[in-house]
Amino acid sequence: AYKALEALRGLPTITRDGRNIRLSVNVEFPHEYSGIKEVGAEGVGLFRTEFFLLGNPSGMPDEEEQTRYYRKLAEGCSPHGVIFRTLDSGGDKLPCEQLRTPEPNPFLGWRGIRVSLSRPELFKQQLRAILRACADTPGCGIMFPMVSGYTEVVTAKHILQECREELERKNIPYARDLKVGIMIEVPSAAIMTDVLAREVDFFSIGTNDLTQYTIAVDRVNNRVANMFRPTHPAVIRIMDMTITAGERENIPTAICGEMAGDITLLPLLIGLGATSMSVGVHLVPIIRYAIRNLDYGQCRDMAQKALQAPNSRSIVDLSTALARKSY
Ligand code: PEP
Ligand code: MG
Repeated sequence: AYKALEALRGLPTITRDGRNIRLSVNVEFPHEYSGIKEVGAEGVGLFRTEFFLLGNPSGMPDEEEQTRYYRKLAEGCSPHGVIFRTLDSGGDKLPCEQLRTPEPNPFLGWRGIRVSLSRPELFKQQLRAILRACADTPGCGIMFPMVSGYTEVVTAKHILQECREELERKNIPYARDLKVGIMIEVPSAAIMTDVLAREVDFFSIGTNDLTQYTIAVDRVNNRVANMFRPTHPAVIRIMDMTITAGERENIPTAICGEMAGDITLLPLLIGLGATSMSVGVHLVPIIRYAIRNLDYGQCRDMAQKALQAPNSRSIVDLSTALARKSY
């Protein structure tokens, strides 16, 4: 089986009826980089920068150190791009000393883009570092985590624009084509995707948090783990809304939560219209194999049925049946 997967390494991730799906990886630590080329992934779809930024208890790396670190990754993935997610501190991601505050409900508190917007100097350091790091590597992008609505997006974009202007004034090279996207992982943002789609270049659905916030079920609490179902019909409908809103404005939607790495649910995600999957590096070969054996038309018909299903069980059954038939 391994040999069969190995043989597909250089082949495109395209369905049997010709729909192209970008297959990229989620990255947290440098040791994962070496595998990216090896498995033939199309770059990095989600670089979780918090592990690098918050890994050192004494404080965050400065702009220069960040630039060097990001550049190494962007160059290592070239000609494919890297999507850099700005700091997602808080919630399950432990903050460093600088950002630590006791909170009664960390998942509903000072998290993600909220932290960045209330610490504009830290935010700008990171934005400038990403802009500079990608100066010579086309196709990279930046995305904001935990967005809950329009004003956050507009404010973050405004700060990004200030960073571009600062670099321009100082004659420092930076990425002029950097794409700007947002994570869709909070229901309020998902519901507003028709409006948000006009503000960004892409969406990336974080199914882990989207599931947590849609069903109100803690993603790290074992007592409610059996309720944590990314296939809950409400989650599927919210994903459908997001992808459809993106299609109307001609922007792509990626899936970067753990759900994208489940081959039984892949027919559902492809059928809903997702155009890109970002998964753990070890999952790339099997997901490529699965995508190449799926028929987009069949996936789409199945997804339409899934959108009418009353519960998670029926949705899983529908997707699994098509997965079984296909691979
Ligand atoms: C998600 O929430 O699905 C996601 C991809 O982000 P993280 O797991 O880092 O919160
Ligand atoms: Mg998340």
